[in-house]
Amino acid sequence: MNSIGKQVLNALKNEISELDYSRYIKQLQFNEEQSKSNLAVYNAPNALIANWIRTKYADKIAHLFEVNTNIKPTVIISVLTASTASSTPNAPVVVPERTITSLLNPSYTFQNFVVGGSNNFAYIAAKNVSEKPGMVYNPLFIYGGVGLGKTHLMHAVGNVMAAQGKTVIYTSVEQFLNDFSRHLSNRTMDRFKDKYRKCDLLLIDDIQFLSGKNQIQEEFFHTFEALRNENKQIIITSDKKPKQIGGLEERLKSRFEWGLVADIQPPELETKIEIIKKKCEINRVKLDREVINYVATIIENNTREIEGILSKLNAYSQLMGVDITIEFARNVLKEQMAEKRSNITIDLIMDTVAKELNVKTSEIRSKSRNSNIVYARRIAIYLSRSLTPNSMPQLAQYFGMKDHTAVSHTMKKIQELMKNDEDFKIKVEELSNKVSMVTSQ
Ligand code: ADP
Ligand code: MG
Repeated sequence: MNSIGKQVLNALKNEISELDYSRYIKQLQFNEEQSKSNLAVYNAPNALIANWIRTKYADKIAHLFEVNTNIKPTVIISVLTASTASSTPNAPVVVPERTITSLLNPSYTFQNFVVGGSNNFAYIAAKNVSEKPGMVYNPLFIYGGVGLGKTHLMHAVGNVMAAQGKTVIYTSVEQFLNDFSRHLSNRTMDRFKDKYRKCDLLLIDDIQFLSGKNQIQEEFFHTFEALRNENKQIIITSDKKPKQIGGLEERLKSRFEWGLVADIQPPELETKIEIIKKKCEINRVKLDREVINYVATIIENNTREIEGILSKLNAYSQLMGVDITIEFARNVLKEQMAEKRSNITIDLIMDTVAKELNVKTSEIRSKSRNSNIVYARRIAIYLSRSLTPNSMPQLAQYFGMKDHTAVSHTMKKIQELMKNDEDFKIKVEELSNKVSMVTSQ
């Protein structure tokens, strides 16, 4: 008889496209040894497939278990790493019980992290922390733009400590908040405190989302104090420096600076190339030098794009049974680039800018000289020109300006401001990331 794990995949087969099934789901192996009634573990052959399934189908798989067994398990898609796979071909990845709740990505290790000028400082800081947790920099605060490796580094410390049997919690602000609300309404706050104040390592990702959430800031403050008093390590990531996070209590801002604040900058071309090579190695994708260089030049600063690109190249080449040559890569990715651009529209930029800067879209398009509105209008024009294929005359028409020279003037103005004012530059980059994030979801 088929195991429940297989039955669930068979049921899933009926609900999804044949291509998704044969290309991805079919490659999963149910790991009976590690699975329990509330935990379903599957092994995937590589991280690309695992990530893809995690994002697209993990919820569905959990739901199908629930339909069949009345229990909704946590679904873990783990990866057969190169080392375990080569020594013992079918050895399952060991998922130690204590770290399961922390959901660390097993491939986010120090070994898999490419060190370059842009991230050297944060890397060394994280490495030191993993060797002497709670003793060198507490908290370690890592900040930088989207896709620059913040989560990777924090998981790397987590993986080191989890392997030593330490209790590691990885959480987002949202998860922390949900957990808090649940325990509050169940009157089980003792358990909440036990969980977060008794771990060896607390990893909080994207702390900027604490902004404006007062009740949870209070709770987080006490968690922070309790851990730090016990010399338990805390690592925090954010898209900006503590001082620049708006709507955050001063006492938290100052505590975030007590340990070490380390930034990660966008990678240089050389580092990008090395990261691509590393990702190819981990995912066992073969690309020649020319293709690697080409991919490095088309990705912008967000390293997160790399896995998507590799997965696409690999899938296409397998489907068509051809090697990944430079011509092939150009063709496949040309389409991707065009797709990416065409997803961003002026309307989307207007909505994002209006929401973030607290003005109305109609005001942005009006002739108002109110300084807040002028500020929002200039940024909207700048982003529309940088992120969409619209020409200057088209933008002039959209924004009701005299002609393209007015647009050109605005572009120059913004570029100059970005050069001279770091806070302004960060704000514009943040908005640009927000727009891009909406389209990549
Ligand atoms: P962030 O949290 O800063 O948004 P992530 O840590 O999620 O970024 O990184 C995005 C992707 O890029 C991940 O797959 C990560 O492994 C990879 N990555 C980023 N920087 C590096 C690096 N220096 N070496 C190897 N992989 C990297
Ligand atoms: Mg992250």
